[in-house]
Amino acid sequence: MTASQQTSARNDAKPALDYDAIIIGAGMSGMYQLYRLRELGMRVRVFEAGTGVGGTWYWNRYPGARFDSESYSYGYSFSKELLEEWNWSEHFAGQPETLRYLNHVADKFDLRRDIQFRSRISAAIYAEDTRSWEVTLEDGSRLHTRFLITAIGPLSTPTMPRIKGVDMFQGQSFHTARWPHDAVDLAGKRVAVIGTGATGVQTIQTIAGSVGHLTVFQRTPNWCAPLHNSKIDAETQKKIKAGYPEIFKRCQETFACFLHTPDPRGAFEVSDEEREAFYETLYSERGFGIWQGNFRDILIDRQANATISDFVARKIRQRVKNPDVAEKLIPKNHGFGTRRLPLETFYYEVYNQDNVELVDISETPIERITPKGIETSAGKYEFDIIIYATGFDAITGSFDKIDFRGAGDVRLKDKWKGGPQTYLGIMVDGFPNMMMLMGPHTALGNIPRSIEYSVDWVTGLIRFARESNFTRMEATPAGVASWTDHVKALGVGLLSNEVNSWMTGINSNVEGKQTRIIARYSGSAPAYRERCDEVAAKRYQELAMA
Ligand code: NAP
Repeated sequence: MTASQQTSARNDAKPALDYDAIIIGAGMSGMYQLYRLRELGMRVRVFEAGTGVGGTWYWNRYPGARFDSESYSYGYSFSKELLEEWNWSEHFAGQPETLRYLNHVADKFDLRRDIQFRSRISAAIYAEDTRSWEVTLEDGSRLHTRFLITAIGPLSTPTMPRIKGVDMFQGQSFHTARWPHDAVDLAGKRVAVIGTGATGVQTIQTIAGSVGHLTVFQRTPNWCAPLHNSKIDAETQKKIKAGYPEIFKRCQETFACFLHTPDPRGAFEVSDEEREAFYETLYSERGFGIWQGNFRDILIDRQANATISDFVARKIRQRVKNPDVAEKLIPKNHGFGTRRLPLETFYYEVYNQDNVELVDISETPIERITPKGIETSAGKYEFDIIIYATGFDAITGSFDKIDFRGAGDVRLKDKWKGGPQTYLGIMVDGFPNMMMLMGPHTALGNIPRSIEYSVDWVTGLIRFARESNFTRMEATPAGVASWTDHVKALGVGLLSNEVNSWMTGINSNVEGKQTRIIARYSGSAPAYRERCDEVAAKRYQELAMA
C-alpha cells in the first residue's frame, strides 16, 4: 500500500466530518475564501458573529467611517464582471457604500447559503486521531472539520478603557466599532469622544458640525494629513474601469499594495527648497502618498523623519487658530508616519469651532466616568453621549478570544505568550490544518490586495493536499522559527517599532499588552509573495504533510 492509500484507508474508517473546511468570519477574507473553496467542490461553512457579511465594514458604522485607500484599489479584483458593474461614487467610499458593495458581492456569488450568522466560535480543538478540528460555538453546538481557516481580522476586537465607572454613565455610550444599526441622534447633544486615532479623527470631524457641544479627550495626538476625497464623475469612472488592469498591476508592485510607493530619493538628497516643494505636493494630493509615497528614508532615519514632522507641524499651526490648542495637537513623542497615519477632512479646523473643546488627558487624566459624564483631575464634564474611539486589541486579540488548542492540547495563547510565532503568517507548528488569513506576521498594507493573495495561496495549499490525499499539513518548528526570526529582522531599524501603538502590540486597556512585540510583517508585499510563491512552487516541501 502506498502512503496515500494508507491515508485514504484510515480516513474511510473514521466517522464523517461535518465539513471539509470551516471559516471563522464573513468579512472580506472569509467571503473570498468561501468563494475559492467552493470552486474546489468542498463542503464549507462560514461562521459569523454578526447578522450580516462585511466584517470591519459591518461593525464599524460610526459617523464618518470611510476608506483611507482609494476605493478602486480596495475592492476585490478576482471578478472582471464585478469590477465592471460596480461604480464607486467617491475616491474614498464611506462605510455604508462599502457595506452595500460587500452585500452585493455576497448576493452575486450566492455566498450567504454557506454562512451561518449570529454564530460566534468560542473554541477550536484539534483531534489527532481524526486529523480534524472540533469547533464549538457559543451556543454549545459542535462541528467537525478537516481544515480550519481563521478570517477574524487584525482589528476586530474593540477595547474599552479601564476607567473607573465606565458602566455608571446614564446617557448613551458607544464604542465606535459597536455603533448601533439604528441612527443615533447627535443633533444638539453634549458629546464626548475619547480617542484620537484614525477612528476618532473621522468621528470628530464628522459630528462636530451637528452636535451641540463636542469635547475631545486626547491622550496622545496623532499626525494626520488631508484625505482630499471627492466624488467620481462619469468620465473618471470610465477611466477607472478601463484602467483596472493597470491599477491592480501597480498595487502588486508597490511596497504595501497601495497605489503609492516610496520615492527612491532620500530626504537629504534634494535641496531644502525641493524637499519643501515635494512635501507641499504630497500634502495637496489625495490619499496615503504623503506616508507611503514619501522619501524612502522618512520612516527609518530620525533626521529625515524630522523634516516631514516639522513640515506637518507647521501645517497644523497654520490650520488651528489657537496656538495652545495647535501645540496640543502636534505629536511630541513620535515622528510623522511612525503610527498608522489617520487621513482627515478639515479635522484641524474643527478645533476653531466655538462648540469644540480639546482636553489633553495626558495633563489632566480621566479619573472616572460618572453617571452624568467624565471627571478628570481638573474638573467635571456633563454629557448626553460618550463615544469611545479607543481602538482594538489588535492582531492577536481576536485569536486570544477563541480557545484554540492544537496537537497535545497546547493553547495558542500560551504558545504566543512572548509574541506570535508563525510560518509565513499563515500557519503555526502544532496546529495542523489551521490556516490564518491576515493573522500576525503577514503582509497587511492595502488589505484586500493582501487578502486576495493569501486566500489564493491557502486555496492552492488545500488543493494540493486534497489532490495528494494528504489529510494533515503542519508547519515545522524550524519553518516557524525561521519565519519569525525573519519578521523580527525586518522590523529592526523601523522607527515605527520604537513607538507604542496597536502596530507594536500595545494596548493600555488589555492586561499583558504593555510590552512591544513584532506582530506585523514589515517587509515589502512583493517580497512576501515571492517567498510564498517559492514554497508553493516547491510543492510545499517545507511543510510536514501526511
Ligand atoms: P487606535 O489607533 O488604536 O486609537 C485609539 C485611540 O484611543 C488612541 O488615541 C488612544 O490613545 C485612545 N485610547 C485608548 N485607550 C484609552 C484610554 N484608556 N484612555 C484614553 N484614551 C485612550 O484605534 P482606531 O482609531 O480605532 O484605529 C485603529 C486602526 O483601524 C487604524 O490605525 C487603522 O489601521 C484602522 N482604521 C482604518 C480606517 C480607514 O481605513 N479609513 C478608519 C479607522 C480605523 P493613545 O494613543 O494614547 O493610546
